[in-house]
Amino acid sequence: MSSKTVKKHEDTKVGVLGGGLSGMAYAYFSSRMGFDVTVLEKNSVPGGLMRSIVEEGFTFDTGGSHIIFSKDIDVLSFMLSLLGDNRIENRRNTAILYKGRLVKYPFENGLSDLPFQENISCLLHFLYARIRRKRELGNLREFFYSSLGSAISEKYLIPYNEKIWKMSIDDMSLGFIGRIPNPSVLDVVKASLGIGSEGYVHQLFFHYPKKGGIQALIESLRGRISGDVLTGFEAKHAESESGKWVVSNGRVEKVFEKIVSTIPLHDAVRVFNAPQNVKSDVERLRFNSLVTVAIGLEEINVKGLSWLYIPDRDIHPHRVSFPSNFSPENAPGGKSSILAEITVKPDDPLLRMNSDEVASMVVEELDRLKILSKNKVVYSNVFRNKYAYPILDSNYQECAERIRAFFNQLGVELIGRFAEFKYINMDDAIRNVANHLGIKRVSEYA
Ligand SMILES: Cc1cc2nc3c(=O)[nH]c(=O)nc-3n(C[C@H](O)[C@H](O)[C@H](O)COP(=O)(O)OP(=O)(O)OC[C@H]3O[C@@H](n4cnc5c(N)ncnc54)[C@H](O)[C@@H]3O)c2cc1C
Repeated sequence: MSSKTVKKHEDTKVGVLGGGLSGMAYAYFSSRMGFDVTVLEKNSVPGGLMRSIVEEGFTFDTGGSHIIFSKDIDVLSFMLSLLGDNRIENRRNTAILYKGRLVKYPFENGLSDLPFQENISCLLHFLYARIRRKRELGNLREFFYSSLGSAISEKYLIPYNEKIWKMSIDDMSLGFIGRIPNPSVLDVVKASLGIGSEGYVHQLFFHYPKKGGIQALIESLRGRISGDVLTGFEAKHAESESGKWVVSNGRVEKVFEKIVSTIPLHDAVRVFNAPQNVKSDVERLRFNSLVTVAIGLEEINVKGLSWLYIPDRDIHPHRVSFPSNFSPENAPGGKSSILAEITVKPDDPLLRMNSDEVASMVVEELDRLKILSKNKVVYSNVFRNKYAYPILDSNYQECAERIRAFFNQLGVELIGRFAEFKYINMDDAIRNVANHLGIKRVSEYA
């Protein structure tokens, strides 16, 4: 064990609500710092969005396709250390399915895959936009037009983003921009001429667990946490009594000196009995849910592809991934797998539809697109994730600040994707936990 294990907080009992990555990472680091920590997780298995299932020899990430990459080298090296030898490095091979052809991803780096006229139109509109680039931008539509031009925006960026976010591009705030590519003029000209160039280079190479799917990261943390991880414990009520926190699941009470909440705000306001004005603010925070359809095939059908983006509005999935290309251990020998992702509004009937019907509808659609042959399907399953994508609309900043102020005043730390209501990836989740605990270099805790 490294010198970073300092047993100086052992009298402080810390309760962590939620056993997704944020909760598990908090428990790991704080237990290494000497806190007496307990994770309370409502599901029978920790992991949250990073759950994986292994069935009939197939491994699928039920919360959608997850890969390990980061610009934060310190966090990346920590994540990789959790996996040890249980990892594979892959080079991204991703395409967009546009009018029946595969266009290299990101779209602006694949212009030469388009029919000639469309390629030239994209290039000219891109150059025109760059010459007239506006500084004052109202919403995401204006950003796309001004940064990538009307042709790339209308052919791909707008339909794809409206499909995944389930809202009009005009209602998306500029808060989304951090995740949008901003390619150089030279790269787009090269792409149009068919001279290879890459976008999104920080995830051109990515890591993935050899065995166990993305949940292998969670399992590794679980094995290293010296405190308790109580599964099947849904926090229903938390109250502060004489300087202690009492958390109940309706049957059992747990007492802590300090509470950290990584559960979605929409649940947390009930658990902490927030006043009506805070509950109303939380109701105004919009989010999307995710349905994933896991498909096993009795043949190796798509060689080498990592993901396929599908902007076509008539097809339910916006993206499919190919887990057996991430690790050969993800499918039995000679077989392959596909994971389709469909974002839906939280009240969408698809969330209540019979799983067999959802699976056959998606298989039919993918068969029509020639992504698979329906008569080769040997396994299918459907998973639903209520909290998948926080929507950063024009409301959210103001509401989130008032909600945070309430929890701050209660003395409850909020950490995590839906606890902070931020569009964070695994690396951000770990970095946020480290910041809360005052840890500068997480890799020292590996
Ligand atoms: C489709 C998709 C793809 C993604 N791909 C990537 C990727 O490729 N790379 C990457 O770095 N990141 C990716 N992410 C982001 C990543 O999944 C998240 O950053 C990370 O999982 C967030 O973890 P969390 O603990 O904050 O939240 P969650 O995983 O949501 O965990 C919250 C936990 O709280 C529990 N809980 C809820 N209510 C209660 C309660 N009342 N009592 C007890 N427990 C409760 C839940 O069961 C859950 O386990 C992706 C996300 C999505 C949706």
